[in-house]
Amino acid sequence: MKIELLKLDKKQNKLSFILRNANHAFANAIRRNAIEEVPVMAIEDVEFRNNSSVIYDEIIAHRLGLIPLTTDLKSYNLPDKCKCNGKGCAQCQLKLILKVLGQGVVYSSDITSTDPKVKPTYQKIPIVKLLKGQKLEFEATANLGKGKDHTKWSPGLVYYKDMPIININKQCKNPEVVVEQCPQNVFEVKNNNLVLNKDNLLNCHLCNACVDICEPKGTITLDKNDKDFIFYVESWGQLESKEIIIEALKIIKDTSDEFIKEIKKKPVKEKASKK
Ligand code: SF4
Ligand SMILES: [Zn+2]
Repeated sequence: MKIELLKLDKKQNKLSFILRNANHAFANAIRRNAIEEVPVMAIEDVEFRNNSSVIYDEIIAHRLGLIPLTTDLKSYNLPDKCKCNGKGCAQCQLKLILKVLGQGVVYSSDITSTDPKVKPTYQKIPIVKLLKGQKLEFEATANLGKGKDHTKWSPGLVYYKDMPIININKQCKNPEVVVEQCPQNVFEVKNNNLVLNKDNLLNCHLCNACVDICEPKGTITLDKNDKDFIFYVESWGQLESKEIIIEALKIIKDTSDEFIKEIKKKPVKEKASKK
């Protein structure tokens, strides 16, 4: 197995890489663990002290849950794995407070966190618009959770596609049309011949348009390699895009270790017969 990093965009918190010599099952295990099992922080409970805005408490609470919070995985436990057994303690939850008197838009930047490491990732997320004299005041509780329980706890979008294999087998009679119709600019014309634009080859999303358009039929053949996968990771902002994949792989490793430990144990029937 080999990893080839294609792009790491720290500003946009995006990552792309090629996973080589793997298989669909492993590629999909990375994807599913990344979006469903890697925990992140999100607001779970909101206690409203005052809300004279035009929006109901429930709607504001829903909006608050969807605000991405910077996540510090080293300092917090998942509630069900915490020594407090999910009752709530400093190791598994924190408070976020807001108190605003209108008029104006209340933004995510108005929220004050009791832990500076856990705060809204983006400052300009509008929560509600207050008219003159209207108030919004609440104390919210955030905790770690998993995307499989609610999408507010999903760290981002992770997807992959098969590596395209494109061959131009003979001279294409309508190269300009193919260049124009390919949505990903995978082709170019050089000396009246259709050739591949190597810089854009990985952008091909296997739509098959070039195969259908190119004359005569059979000039272009399109296939996919089922051992190499092009991955794209787009973080919602709670974790670094690289961290999402690293955490997903740690979860796969821990689950596999647990599986090995369990399978080494004596069969239940054998234990019973010895008694
Ligand atoms: S399959 Fe679609 S995206 Fe890929 S090269 Fe052909 S036209 Fe372009
Ligand atoms: Zn706890």
